[in-house]
Amino acid sequence: MNIDGLPYRTIWPAEEGVAVEIIDQTRLPHEFATVRLENLHDAAIAIKNMLVRGAPLIGATAAYGVALAMSDKASDTALEEACSTLAATRPTAINLRWALARMKVLLLTLPPERRAQAAWLEAAAICDEDVDNNRALGQHGLKLIRDRLEAKGEPVNILTHCNAGWLATVDWGTALAPIYTAFDAGIPLHVWVDETRPRNQGASLTAWELQQHGVPHTVIADNTGGHLMQHGMVDMVIVGTDRTTACGDVCNKIGTYLKALAAFDNQIPFYVALPGPTIDWTLEDGVREIPIEQRDAEEVTQIRGRTAEGEIVSVTLTPHGSPAANYAFDVTPARLVTGLITERGVCPASRDGLLGLYPEHSSASLTAREAESRTVSEAELPVVSEAELRRALIDTAMAAQREGLNRGASGNLSVRCGDGFLITPSGMAPGEQTPEDVAWMDFDGNARGRRKPSSEWRFHRDLYIARPEFGAVLHAHSTFATTLACLGRDIPPFHYMIAAAGGKTIRCAPYATFGTQELSEHALAAMNDRKACLLGNHGLLVAETDLPRALAVAVEVESLCEQYCRLLQIGTPNLLSDTEMDVVLEKFKTYGQNAQKT
Ligand code: 13P
Ligand code: ZN
Repeated sequence: MNIDGLPYRTIWPAEEGVAVEIIDQTRLPHEFATVRLENLHDAAIAIKNMLVRGAPLIGATAAYGVALAMSDKASDTALEEACSTLAATRPTAINLRWALARMKVLLLTLPPERRAQAAWLEAAAICDEDVDNNRALGQHGLKLIRDRLEAKGEPVNILTHCNAGWLATVDWGTALAPIYTAFDAGIPLHVWVDETRPRNQGASLTAWELQQHGVPHTVIADNTGGHLMQHGMVDMVIVGTDRTTACGDVCNKIGTYLKALAAFDNQIPFYVALPGPTIDWTLEDGVREIPIEQRDAEEVTQIRGRTAEGEIVSVTLTPHGSPAANYAFDVTPARLVTGLITERGVCPASRDGLLGLYPEHSSASLTAREAESRTVSEAELPVVSEAELRRALIDTAMAAQREGLNRGASGNLSVRCGDGFLITPSGMAPGEQTPEDVAWMDFDGNARGRRKPSSEWRFHRDLYIARPEFGAVLHAHSTFATTLACLGRDIPPFHYMIAAAGGKTIRCAPYATFGTQELSEHALAAMNDRKACLLGNHGLLVAETDLPRALAVAVEVESLCEQYCRLLQIGTPNLLSDTEMDVVLEKFKTYGQNAQKT
């Protein structure tokens, strides 16, 4: 966004490895000043004292706080200390915890000498993702505003509470992103800005940034919204959220709930805008489960502002000795929310609505009771013939090929069928295989069919025996998984909610010759309770309930491996250090020689 015509983000590395710069939001709107954060302490104070605020920006600042700490000292203890210091600054916004978890799991798997550089890169990635998310949710929100324009005529009057603008994020904002996007698209609109006691982020920050962008707006006292709604002066409400539960309850600045009640009573659409990292998939009932920050009573008993002489002062509002309470957030239950605007689209504020947009969280966020009610009895399952499964197997092998999962050696794929499983034939590339080439095996390893089953049949069989929930197994020699496998690297859950790993590390099994019982044992141990692992010196192994899901997991894990390789600066020969390149080539040669022996 622009300030006096110049483009700014709210946080940026001033000197990589040395300092980060932020806008001091406590001085706005009266003074625009930037502040340099040079160490962990500076970053923690900036969050605690609200020089930066807003859930996404708090997350980004925490990530840079870790980077600053790593540039100073990168030991395990230093990392642990940095994360706990930053986590203690503010309790409600989930993005803080999300960003710290992401930094920590990534950095812990790296040797200390590599941590600082990786931390700066990851913090920058968190910022870029926030900007991309907010830009995307702005586009989705634009459609809602356009619909209101068609229904109500111009201008569209939008009420917002507190500041969920670009100052609350790295850029664009959450609640204000659709407003900026609609304004830039030429839609006539006007924003009612709740002043938002006690700290008045609406009056000071939202009004300031809307003014910088030229968006028509009017500041109102917090108690005004209901009256305006009763008189048809509000067409829609858009607010942000600091934490959203898996069921769509939203926790936002104190007073949001009252606006939602008034909107509900007047049948005015009430939307909440949020990027994915604001969702806490571990919580359901926001009122009961979200910790609400209580801040200093002075924020209620006093008020800050500028005198006619231009001096910034605090004045006291209350009689001396009157106690005051300062709850910073409240929870608006999902039933009062018309829709959630996310970077992936607009959805109902419900578990099903959120899972429709974030299907990768479906298993993680199912309650045991719901999971039970969703298991279909065998009688309900459609009967699929063996012939259909053979065709599906070949089609999926071809699809894996198209997704670029196979390099050179072809890999193999199987699907449960009757009292055994169907598996691709040995030594044939996907393009040459027909459904008739597929072999069938029982769980004792007896095969039937015109072709020899894959030489890797043991880990397929052993996975079906050990994990009754699996219906399909896929093994591939994909580029990035194989590179990491040759280096014997585990993949940290740095995209820590990845469906395949259930938030855990994807482990690399120790090397064993392929086709052997030893390899199968290593593979099962590395897989443990997950859906994926790497095979030392070799490739990728995934398992899922069915063929399409197995393919989807393989694609997801390979892309994760690619991101991790890029982050570590390995995997593309010109980025790989000489020693690492030697290891990869040497290991893959071992695998290649073995492969030729079959
Ligand atoms: P198959 O061609 O026998 O399936 O073997 C490929 C492979 O993955 C060897 O590790
Ligand atoms: Zn293989």
